Amino acid sequence: MSNCLFCKIIAGEVPATMVYRGIDIVAFRDIHPQAPTHILVVPIKHLESVAAMQPGDVDLVGRLVATAKDIAHNEGLAGFRLVVNTGREAGQSVFHLHVHVLGGRSMHWPPG
Ligand code: 5GP
Ligand code: ZN
Repeated sequence: MSNCLFCKIIAGEVPATMVYRGIDIVAFRDIHPQAPTHILVVPIKHLESVAAMQPGDVDLVGRLVATAKDIAHNEGLAGFRLVVNTGREAGQSVFHLHVHVLGGRSMHWPPG
């Protein structure tokens, strides 16, 4: 997708602090961190959101969560929160699927 910010980051056209680069998944630090650790885990394939998932995407999305867990471990997080905003009403602002990994501070529930 030529006009997608995260596709541009994946292509190296927009700089980001990469923390992981795999065959079909990357992870980089959020530009506006909402916690001491705030990393975005992103499929290289452009998928708009969880709502756009097809049956063939289940393995990839499962591995996003597994990668998020490994990153949380590498960051030394005792606990962490995974967030997947889906749709504008839910707070999604970049329409390329991503899992937020948040940690390093205590969290509250319910989220805003
Ligand atoms: P969403 O609101 O779609 O769930 O999350 C999008 C996230 O992307 C936000 O947390 C926002 O701070 C982050 N973001 C937006 N633009 C950039 C950017 O240019 N670089 C990086 N690293 N993160 C970005
Ligand atoms: Zn994209």
